[in-house]
Amino acid sequence: SSNQFLVIGGAGYIGSHMVKHLIEHGHQVVVLDDLSSGHADALLGGELLVHDFADRPFLDALFTKHHFDGVFHFASQILVGESVNNPAKYYRANTFATLVLLEAMRDHGVQNFVFSSTAAVYGEPAYVPIDEAHPKIPLNPYGASKYMVEQILSDFDRAHGTKYVALRYFNAAGADPQARMGERHEPETHLIPLALQAVTGRRPALKVFGTDYDTPDGTCLRDYIHVDDLSSAHLLAMQYLQAGGASRAFNLGNGAGYSVQQVIDVAGKVAGKPVPVEYAPRRAGDPARLIADATQAKAVLGWEPQYDDLEAIIGHAWAWEQKSH
Ligand code: UDP
Repeated sequence: SSNQFLVIGGAGYIGSHMVKHLIEHGHQVVVLDDLSSGHADALLGGELLVHDFADRPFLDALFTKHHFDGVFHFASQILVGESVNNPAKYYRANTFATLVLLEAMRDHGVQNFVFSSTAAVYGEPAYVPIDEAHPKIPLNPYGASKYMVEQILSDFDRAHGTKYVALRYFNAAGADPQARMGERHEPETHLIPLALQAVTGRRPALKVFGTDYDTPDGTCLRDYIHVDDLSSAHLLAMQYLQAGGASRAFNLGNGAGYSVQQVIDVAGKVAGKPVPVEYAPRRAGDPARLIADATQAKAVLGWEPQYDDLEAIIGHAWAWEQKSH
């Protein structure tokens, strides 16, 4: 049956794929995005409201006007390095603003919240693959700002019955298979778009951050998960809450680690030209391996990722890169 959902940050990279997924499943979508980093033309449909999501009077009017069956919250600041230098920006934008939103939802009886969390809540892995029970010791304010929201959510659930799923993403990657939308961050810091844009000449040679890690080829291992697979997990998480599922967190990843060098090799193969690279020192705060144990999302939500193949993921990103945007 058709529901009406609020997608906060729906004009961003992951949010815009979520909006597509909801529309394709016959749902009504309202997008709330201030367009500080999102793009209105990334939306396939839905009603776009361009506004700060932490404006309480605005939320009061919105929740009075519309009934929402659930809220997806993708809007956040995501630069780990910046969060170290300017922690207040992260605690305001990611933690405090979300608290304002949660209070408004509570006061208007808006149920069911699916929150974009991150593998950064775990910090340096004590073991891989990382399951949800792994210790949560974030290494930077970005991860801490997200983990604090998870703690607030847990307390709100106990106090007010706020139903939530926190989805801890590993490395979101890829693009719409039809190349209608994709990744366009500015600044861009993510490996796959930087590698592909080094091939096209839009950006300089890719700097490989560290070749002396304790991994098979010395570069870091990451778990790349297709944005469309993230989106399908979000809708399943919402449906799980609507069916009375208990509030909790889930990891989202493929459970396979690919090295930075492997990504570079596959990107070169997909693009038909090698990626120009420069070897550089390690980037502060990068663990050697980040690999998800996502068996819970599969077992409890019935999630089945469609793209576990790095070449398919990078192929979609490449098709998107070749469109002018
Ligand atoms: N990386 C790199 N050069 C870049 C960007 C990233 O070598 O210009 C590496 C980074 O050190 C990490 C991996 O690529 O090992 C993935 O980084 P990304 O920033 O895409 O995601 P993160 O793992 O930090 O969430």
